[in-house]
Amino acid sequence: TLPAPEKTAPNQSELFAPEPAPDPIKPIRDVLRQVAPLPGDLLDLARWISSYYCCPIGMTLAAMVPAAVKRAARLPQRQLLNLTTPGEPLPELLARIKLSAPAKKALTLLHPALLTAPVELQTAMQTANCSKGIIQRLITQTVLTSRREILFPQMAEPVPDAPDAPAEPDFALTPDQTAALVALEPLLTAPRFAVRLLHGVTGSGKTEVYIRAIAQVLAQGKSALVLVPEISLTPQAVQRFTRRFPRIAVLHSGMRDQLRHQHWHAIAGGWAQVVVGARSAVFAPLPNLGLIIVDEEHDGSYKQDEAPRYHGRDVAIKRAQSANIPIILGTATPALETYHNTRTNPNFALLELRQRPPGIKMPTVRIVDMVQEQRNRRGLHILSMALERGLTETLAQKGQAIILLNRRGYAHYITCNRCGFVLMCTNCDATLVVHRAPHAAPNETGGYNQVRCHYCQTTTMLPSECPDCHAKLSQLGQGTQRAEDELLRKFPGLRLARMDSDTMERLADYEATLAAFGRGELDVLLGTQMIAKGLDFPNVRLVGVLNADVAMAMPDFRAAERTFQLVCQVAGRAGRSTDPGRVFVQTYQPQLPALTSACQHDYAAYVQNELPQRQEYHYPPYGRLVRMVLAHKSDTLVRQHAQALADLALRTAEHFNLPVTISGPQPPPMNRLMDAYRFEIILSAPTAGPLQQILHQARRSGLLWQSQIPVQVDVDPLNMF
Ligand code: ADP
Ligand code: ZN
Repeated sequence: TLPAPEKTAPNQSELFAPEPAPDPIKPIRDVLRQVAPLPGDLLDLARWISSYYCCPIGMTLAAMVPAAVKRAARLPQRQLLNLTTPGEPLPELLARIKLSAPAKKALTLLHPALLTAPVELQTAMQTANCSKGIIQRLITQTVLTSRREILFPQMAEPVPDAPDAPAEPDFALTPDQTAALVALEPLLTAPRFAVRLLHGVTGSGKTEVYIRAIAQVLAQGKSALVLVPEISLTPQAVQRFTRRFPRIAVLHSGMRDQLRHQHWHAIAGGWAQVVVGARSAVFAPLPNLGLIIVDEEHDGSYKQDEAPRYHGRDVAIKRAQSANIPIILGTATPALETYHNTRTNPNFALLELRQRPPGIKMPTVRIVDMVQEQRNRRGLHILSMALERGLTETLAQKGQAIILLNRRGYAHYITCNRCGFVLMCTNCDATLVVHRAPHAAPNETGGYNQVRCHYCQTTTMLPSECPDCHAKLSQLGQGTQRAEDELLRKFPGLRLARMDSDTMERLADYEATLAAFGRGELDVLLGTQMIAKGLDFPNVRLVGVLNADVAMAMPDFRAAERTFQLVCQVAGRAGRSTDPGRVFVQTYQPQLPALTSACQHDYAAYVQNELPQRQEYHYPPYGRLVRMVLAHKSDTLVRQHAQALADLALRTAEHFNLPVTISGPQPPPMNRLMDAYRFEIILSAPTAGPLQQILHQARRSGLLWQSQIPVQVDVDPLNMF
């Protein structure tokens, strides 16, 4: 580490460009009154995000409020009728105002109901057995007054199966759950900022802890915010909360405009007690927030991959800090950053759920060595013999199975056996992937005639021979479509659904498939990581992981962490009832520590192996990173511009004596993407401060936003491509 920064006023130096003159402020033309203003605490949060993640404030604010709210999508409403003079007896009213015979008749029928409460328009028309015209006349003649009322979420769309009264479960808490709640108690009764990592093995009952903690907060008249990864927002998952708390609002990207605006309105208006939502729900305008929960805090989908490139979990922590309230981060596989914080940051502490509830065991996991398997068996087999046998047994017992292969498509390498040619995308540094034609059936001869780039989505026809030497091409590598074919060949009549982003284009497809699986109409769910998370189906007795080491091929220091998380999470889908679960993990690297520890559900062992490596290279959690990526069609331009930016970073670091390491400019693993050349600069430092200082100078210099080559700034990046 270099010495501490010198205390020099930044603008005393001629090394740096002068502060650019601010744009002239434009006059206000109009105020959008139908949109609820963003509360002050969220404006402060916006300023922090804009500065920390280096994103213009306008863009930041735009990302915080759903489009449906900004456009003021029409809210579901109802019209309520009242007597203009409340409680006035019918004879007096009729004596006072002269009505036509039909109006008089209608009013006579309607009057008793109006004496007790306002009546909704449709109900009034039914009760009075009259047309809307008659009601309208009663309003014009000032007998009735009418007002519009915006509907709250459940009044518009009742949640099926959700009884009105909050239902308490019939089980007793496990000792670990009780201990966690006892530890949380002081924070919930006298709220203050504190971060608690709830580390519980899969199926250990974290949700029950969340629910009890929320109940305590609501009892004090406060509200709670629950963040979950987008894909976990299935109706089943939301129902676990709706069953216990009546006034829930939900926010996620799959909602129709009107619904989304309605829920937002219900939150801002103080109706909602609990908000359950995906990443951007961290901006839910809850007044009187008392507790934040981030479920599956390790999940990479909390990081937004466009500006502002914020991390939902970290923004949630910031929000909790500003509001001075507790935040619970729950997961079976904590992010190393979070885990490290519990050991070094006094605001953090660890709570553990080590066991599943009584009678429910962790599944047994077996590693299948695919190198060995290929020596012992002829032909191409995606399923090992052990997994095949296990599946046969599971199906015979009417059990269900989940099979994970974290790659979509059919084959990932098209190569020539004679000259070594590999079919690449013309726009990106990526191999083309063979895909089944949209209308072809599994195993259909000639059905696999398309190749697609998974980065720029270009689709072309599969060449029939090597373009260089005209020899035959082979297809290597396995994707979910190939696994689907093999499963259907080996298990004729198998009721299988494939779940990957090719088959699940909409959230509704995903929900429908999961519902069918829950009803037992499917035997096997086969899919990418979207089936690894959060699913709780008691009849799943077998989980297969094909190609468990696939992520290890990526040039990314988090490859092992991702492998560990994925295998732990998907293995956790098995054995969620008293029937024991079995897991088969197929790999070409059976000794890989991330895999062996995942198979023993042993987070501590994984951490012990991984942390020293991170420390050696000063990677997070032992350092902070900023990644800047520049892209342009011209290789020369992008190179020059990246060099200028790197020079500025270097000058700043030298001038202020900052402990920052600058790598680059250099081509990232993906040098060409979507027909543009890319260069990256990676800044690393022991803490965030020095990096922020460099970003501040870069912003002032005009090299970030005003230039002809836009720079993607990623603070605390997760994606290193
Ligand atoms: P996690 O989120 O930790 O994976 P869940 O909260 O999904 O675990 O709980 C797994 C299952 O165990 C759920 O079906 C839940 O209803 C049940 N459960 C939770 N706590 C208990 C308990 N104390 N006794 C019995 N069952 C429980
Ligand atoms: Zn491409």
